[in-house]
Amino acid sequence: MSINASSTKGFNRLDNVLIIGNGGRENSLAWAIQKNEIVKKVYLIPGNGGSERINKCERIKIDLENKNDLVEKLDFLKIDLIIIGPELHLANGLADFLRKKNFKVFGPGKDGAKLEYSKSWAKKFMQDANIPTANFWKVNSFEEAKNIIHSSSLPLVVKADGLASGKGVFIPESKHECLKAAESIFDGKFGKAGNTIVLEEKIHGPEVSVFALCDGERYILLPTAQDHKRLNVNDKGPNTGGMGAYSPAPLLTENYLQRIIKEIVEPTIDELNKKNIDYKGVIYFGLMITKSGPKVIEYNCRFGDPECQTIMPLLDQNFVFLLEKCSMGNLTGNEKIDTSNKVSGCVIATSKGYPHEYKTGFPIKIGGIDSSNCQIFDSGTSLGKNGELLTGGGRVLSIVCQDKDYDAVFDKAYKNLKEISFDGMYFRNDIGHQVRKNFRREF
Ligand code: AMP
Repeated sequence: MSINASSTKGFNRLDNVLIIGNGGRENSLAWAIQKNEIVKKVYLIPGNGGSERINKCERIKIDLENKNDLVEKLDFLKIDLIIIGPELHLANGLADFLRKKNFKVFGPGKDGAKLEYSKSWAKKFMQDANIPTANFWKVNSFEEAKNIIHSSSLPLVVKADGLASGKGVFIPESKHECLKAAESIFDGKFGKAGNTIVLEEKIHGPEVSVFALCDGERYILLPTAQDHKRLNVNDKGPNTGGMGAYSPAPLLTENYLQRIIKEIVEPTIDELNKKNIDYKGVIYFGLMITKSGPKVIEYNCRFGDPECQTIMPLLDQNFVFLLEKCSMGNLTGNEKIDTSNKVSGCVIATSKGYPHEYKTGFPIKIGGIDSSNCQIFDSGTSLGKNGELLTGGGRVLSIVCQDKDYDAVFDKAYKNLKEISFDGMYFRNDIGHQVRKNFRREF
């Protein structure tokens, strides 16, 4: 990524950057941000077992609910820029609160986060702006859902309206399954997040992710990505938070990306402006490439974990300036991202049982890793009494590698993965199969 010298003038100090969140996303953001020599320290609240392996990084314990204490401590630490990772904090208005206290914040306010925390609101938003998406019904009761499901000749997808930790979407195989899904949501499976549901026409095609960094008015696109959401090989099994990813997505030619910009990205930003939403953060467009063109499956108001981990190593040290410019509303929109013709791929190792029940607390052994153009980002780890690294979540860690092509990337990633072990470790052996010329299953 290169930003010309004149566009970097006038930055305030960026000595101390704070990242809120505890996943692989936050660790990869911290890793990308510390690369800039202007940054002296990257704090993470709360971070995880892998955060302090990253240069300049320190975890701090602050209760985010105790707002007075939070502001006092952030002032004491002289925090120059705050990046909020998780959607829940954004949905709860943490960015609004911190901005009111005069911090520079990368992350939308509650109004912008609604793109993610209310699926029915996001669908209406797309309808208002004529943005292509699957047909839908907003439904407030099981009776209403039953009528629609019975009378529809199309297969339908069922979605809880609110935040459900990535578990609120059902892709039923039959009307019976569809009814069951709707009933379970109205029965309280996701609490208040399921007071309303969205029934959606099922659409088909490969999925890609597009990320726009926004400053409220202008935007700049990051490299595109594709992730593998399903648990098992050949993209089968339950949906997960992501089992691996690669960036950029070769599926999107420059021409097709231009179409996405014209039909989806720019109308989204225009509609936000029209609704007086000052969106300073990333918009994640989850897209499906259907026969009739690109359609929005979902918006997220933050980076997705596997994609973020994959994209960050493609960016150079000026990335932190882009985040700061967004937080201050002064992107030019002409900043250029140059990935030096590299591609990046990520394979995630999970705990046995994920995305359902799993145990944590198992020691993680990391042997001799070839660390040139290769990173380990912890997603769910903790430190034991003696500082030993332990499993602490469903998605435990990822290996991310960069090289000139996807064969080289995934050869290196799988070779390195052989050096890592923990009880119950699971990973897919076919990540990137679509983009590898010499694809063969590893292990
Ligand atoms: P979401 O949480 O909205 O991204 O949905 C999770 C996954 O469900 C998506 O990545 C898609 O694979 C699938 N999905 C969501 N909506 C639809 C739809 N309308 N048609 C087909 N698949 C869908």
